[in-house]
Amino acid sequence: MSVLVVAEHDNKNLKSSTLNTISAAEKLSEDIHLLILGNKIEDLAKSSKSIQLVKKVIICDHEKLENQIPELSSPIISNLAENYSHILAPSSTFGKNLLPRVSAQLDVTQISDIIGIESQDTFIRPIYAGNAISYVQTDQKINLMTVRPTSFEKCEEAGGDAALENITFIDSEVKTTFVNREVSKSDRPELGNARVVVSGGRGLENSDNFKLLYDLADKLNAAVGASRAAVDSGYIGNEYQVGQTGKMVAPELYIAVGISGAIQHLAGMKESKVIVAINKDLEAPIFNIADYGLSSDLFQAIPEIIKELDLLNQIES
Ligand code: FAD
Repeated sequence: MSVLVVAEHDNKNLKSSTLNTISAAEKLSEDIHLLILGNKIEDLAKSSKSIQLVKKVIICDHEKLENQIPELSSPIISNLAENYSHILAPSSTFGKNLLPRVSAQLDVTQISDIIGIESQDTFIRPIYAGNAISYVQTDQKINLMTVRPTSFEKCEEAGGDAALENITFIDSEVKTTFVNREVSKSDRPELGNARVVVSGGRGLENSDNFKLLYDLADKLNAAVGASRAAVDSGYIGNEYQVGQTGKMVAPELYIAVGISGAIQHLAGMKESKVIVAINKDLEAPIFNIADYGLSSDLFQAIPEIIKELDLLNQIES
């Protein structure tokens, strides 16, 4: 049977989470279809055709889909569902908002946040904030799954030549209207995609001290993240939170500064390739998963690291 991947995008470009989800779909079928619901998405559809693993790009292009309100998108997906054994979406705000509605419409149980695929009917997902891994076996005809992007590599964006199909928009009476979108603007890389992430915790003490972290992040061309304690204390906006109830990240390098390493924080970053912890408490649990640990006062360590990085940059230039 074929597998449908619902694309996360901004009407111009696919989000990288879509590419991770397509890689997950490859473990289920060779016949992968990519569904793009949006407004003025001709160019996006054309560029998506070249994704190597995708056999068909299905688009529904309508002005009402500009903001991809899930109440409007979900009936379109439900309508296509009988053609597919599995329907996948990224386990992001987008997928978490959309797929449960489709599951309800189809009266099937959603399998959330999968990190591995054992077979056509057996999927791996973390439970208890990642402290246990469960294998979920199902005999449902249609399996709806959100996929944790950090658990699958991005697929190749080039080399393919998928077919293109236009489907008509099904209008539904919905009570939800789009009001506005507030996007935090930053010159730094996006937290979910960054190669390096520098995260700060309660140890930073206040929002002014986060400037230290921004300086370090800028030297490393890194994204900035934070623990929930730092967010709840108002040091930084909640879009920066990493963890079970924040963003999941898996960068090449994750630097945790003044973060104790609670399981809920680890759930969002422990897949990082190299973890560096800076904490003055040697007993802090973050050191249990860190590849490199620096037991030091961050207010002393960070300026010194920045100074060293400056020196290095001078030598290199
Ligand atoms: P603390 O635990 O207070 O640690 C601060 C650390 O800074 C300490 O280890 C201390 O030694 C160190 N420190 C202090 N001063 C300095 C200094 N000068 N130099 C160096 N080190 C210093 N948390 C998340 O992060 N993300 C989540 O998504 C999340 N989801 C949650 C969901 C639920 C349902 C619950 C119950 C909790 C969740 N939490 C989450 C909260 C989590 O349990 C912790 O409370 C939180 O991660 C602690 O943040 P912290 O490490 O910054 O603070």
